[in-house]
Amino acid sequence: MPPAKPVDPSTACPCGSKNPLGECCLNYIEGKALAPTAEALMRSRYTAHVLVAVDYLWQTWSPERRSKSSKADIAAWATNCEWLGLQILTVDAGKEKDNEGTVSFIAIFRQDGKLQHHQETSLFRKTAEGWRYIDHKE
Ligand SMILES: [Zn+2]
Repeated sequence: MPPAKPVDPSTACPCGSKNPLGECCLNYIEGKALAPTAEALMRSRYTAHVLVAVDYLWQTWSPERRSKSSKADIAAWATNCEWLGLQILTVDAGKEKDNEGTVSFIAIFRQDGKLQHHQETSLFRKTAEGWRYIDHKE
């Protein structure tokens, strides 16, 4: 299923890379390429929230964690938030040669009229099908 929001590949990618969407996260979201690093997957998952690309968010989430959620939950959450920006703070491992990595970030969004700064350190693991979001670290 393609992203629910209309997509213009020439606009700046929402992940903040300063590259056009079509040369950044969209390739991963549309399944044309695998995100090569944990950071690339993290960025593409943020962009997938912006585009309400639910299938991609589902597919790149660890099966153990997503079993507590549903595609409908993801769609509702992504749609209810106005996504305002992503800031990557630190990246630990998660490169092409690694099997695991963490990315600390702040996602800025407005939900129910309230501005939110969500800070998280996320754990990513590489599988045969590419990088997966495993969990946030305590
Ligand atoms: Zn991007």
